[in-house]
Amino acid sequence: MLTATAALEILREAVKAPPPRVFRALDESLGCVLAEDVRAEMDQPPFEKSSMDGWAVRAADVQSGVELKSVGRILAGMPPGLSIHAGETAKIMTGAPLPDGADAVVMVEKSVELGGGRVRLDAGVVAGENVCHRGEDLRAGEIVLRRGTVLDAVALSLLASVGCDPAPVHALPRVLVLPTGDELVAAHGPKPLPGQIRESNGTLIEALLTAAFPALRVVRTGIAPDAEAELLEHLRVGLGHDVFILSGGVSMGDADLVPMLLKNLGLEVLIEKVAIKPGKPLLFGRVSGKDGHCCHVFGLPGNPVSSFVTFELFVKPFIAALAGAPFPAPVLLPARLRHVRSLKRIPRRQHIPCVLGVGAEGLVAEPLPWHGSADMRGVLGADGLLLVEAGEGVVLPESTVSVHLLAGARCRGEIPARGSA
Ligand code: AMP
Ligand code: MG
Repeated sequence: MLTATAALEILREAVKAPPPRVFRALDESLGCVLAEDVRAEMDQPPFEKSSMDGWAVRAADVQSGVELKSVGRILAGMPPGLSIHAGETAKIMTGAPLPDGADAVVMVEKSVELGGGRVRLDAGVVAGENVCHRGEDLRAGEIVLRRGTVLDAVALSLLASVGCDPAPVHALPRVLVLPTGDELVAAHGPKPLPGQIRESNGTLIEALLTAAFPALRVVRTGIAPDAEAELLEHLRVGLGHDVFILSGGVSMGDADLVPMLLKNLGLEVLIEKVAIKPGKPLLFGRVSGKDGHCCHVFGLPGNPVSSFVTFELFVKPFIAALAGAPFPAPVLLPARLRHVRSLKRIPRRQHIPCVLGVGAEGLVAEPLPWHGSADMRGVLGADGLLLVEAGEGVVLPESTVSVHLLAGARCRGEIPARGSA
């Protein structure tokens, strides 16, 4: 069976040419990947600029107690043009252009307006004080952001500051999410009858997708039954997308028809089972159409925690790469373990939800009480997945473990020592 690392390598290789470039409005581009280097359109700041509300002066004129003549007032947004000469000053606001002749600003708190256009300054100043120099942050033509950058809030604001709207980004894949299973009842539907359960993986996967890729539009087409003919209809619709994420129906049960039907529809299987727990029956492959279109397909095991873990480990980095980013490596943190429930030794890597905090020994991982692949409540609030390598059994207390960091991990304070709470 494939290891998680080998499965990631297959996923990395499955991402071919970078997706086409499109122009997207900045306010719809959070999480998109820049497709070109972006340069500054002009110097920033574009002029000598006051960083304080105060008085623009010639530093050489000013020592504490000096009286100057005010020759005007400059607000942010006014064009440059005013000049000051020996013995003169101008009132100036933060962000306003410095008048010609001035080389420093005395903050307003250090001044007294005496009336009759006279002002007394109660502090000296050196040249350049409280002034932002033209081009000190960016030079016209300088690269501000490189292609391949994932656009977070700071990157988006930088693009806005250089007038790059819409931005050249890679097109996002079109993704369809399909839960399958005869037993599933929609969250908004009637109370499940005996034998039925609520469908929750569709909600899970869509929320994981939009949290990781806010600009992605996720398509949902309801719940597919295990009945062949109807399931086939759903599969055909899913395969019309760039990424088709199914949950359920990929194990060894009599009603697990998804792999067989997908293979009949031309699925080239690239991953079938990974040596992990939970999440072993993961299916991944692609269906290439005659028109050159290629749909990548994930069949996630239906147990909610299995769907969650396989999404985090495999689907998320794959879609990031498909959206044009370098294939992201998992973030693995070394943490100290204070105690852990005993674990059976199995030939698969185990993933145990845990919280992370800080103790005297550094980063500490605390496994959550959790009952296995159906127990989503046990995953609530998890910061990471504690990894127990294949063949390893009980992790000894006080040992150092590797934790796969989850999106949304919080920085917690002290985790109390055992028995102290
Ligand atoms: P399967 O992978 O179809 O064999 O399903 C494994 C387990 O996960 C079964 O107990 C299913 O009832 C449950 N399950 C499958 N799909 C979902 C879903 N979309 N939401 C919640 N539970 C599910
Ligand atoms: Mg099923």
